[in-house]
Amino acid sequence: MRGAGAVRRLATAVRRRLAPRGVILLYHRVAAPAHDPDALAVTPAHFDEQLRILSTLAEPLALDEFERRRTDGTLPARAVALTFDDGYRDNLTAAAPALARAGIPATVFVTTGRTGALRGFWWDELAAMLLPGTHEPRSLPVCLDDGGPTQLDFLPTQAHVVHAALAERLRVASADARDRTIDAIAASLGHPLPDPEVARACDNEELRALAATPGISLGAHSVTHSVMARQSPRELRIEAVESRAQLTAIRGGIAPTAFAYPYGATRDISAAAVDAVRAAGYTMACANVPAAAWRESDPFQLPRHLVRDWDAATFRPTLAQWFRE
Ligand SMILES: [Zn+2]
Repeated sequence: MRGAGAVRRLATAVRRRLAPRGVILLYHRVAAPAHDPDALAVTPAHFDEQLRILSTLAEPLALDEFERRRTDGTLPARAVALTFDDGYRDNLTAAAPALARAGIPATVFVTTGRTGALRGFWWDELAAMLLPGTHEPRSLPVCLDDGGPTQLDFLPTQAHVVHAALAERLRVASADARDRTIDAIAASLGHPLPDPEVARACDNEELRALAATPGISLGAHSVTHSVMARQSPRELRIEAVESRAQLTAIRGGIAPTAFAYPYGATRDISAAAVDAVRAAGYTMACANVPAAAWRESDPFQLPRHLVRDWDAATFRPTLAQWFRE
């Protein structure tokens, strides 16, 4: 005999399968950077291919409308909403023009402490200082009939191992400690910090231009891009309130409705973080947890699917699978 818990789970699964649901997509960059250890960039050519598929096989909605119709239970079939995290400048120079050509709306979540900063995000600085570029080969073909492998992969180098260990620790460090560590690494390697122009966030002027692009809206992605589950109530309030105030000023008094948690995995989001975001006046918040969104999804932990640098042949079946789940 099934327990009451199992019956409830089954009933929820059935309701979920029958209910209107949609998919929120998570992008970061539209670019082909020399360093991309977390595979967050989509090339402009692949982004165009993905937008063509979204135009024909999906029903793209602005995030606000997606959220309204999700809670009403009136999401159209194959509804999608596009979001971008961090606020990279290529969102203005590459993503926004492509979105405008395709007539697809999107929300850009901005890390407000990095707008107009004289340095890039810590993960880009660390990768640029330690890792070989993405143009370096990762494997070599072998054309021998000796029964052995036809491809040989390069093993991770000492630099990859050091990079991974440092990235793991920097991810959970405070913003000040992160910057101090990156500065110390640059000094110890004897070269200046990487040119922020390679991978920087939009400055305030560029954010105004982005917000003025039809179909583009701005949301907040905290001030310092720290793991909110590790922050004090006071720090959480600053992350939620100050990022909202800065974006409100940039948008001429219009406050953002949506927030996206930095990193956004379940372990990065605490109940106190959710409370701080709600108290600051946002009406929804996005996580980085892959699932479809439906009427019973938590509006303050909306799931999102991370989109990789896929061509049409990979993106089409992946999107279809996300709609089926
Ligand atoms: Zn982020």
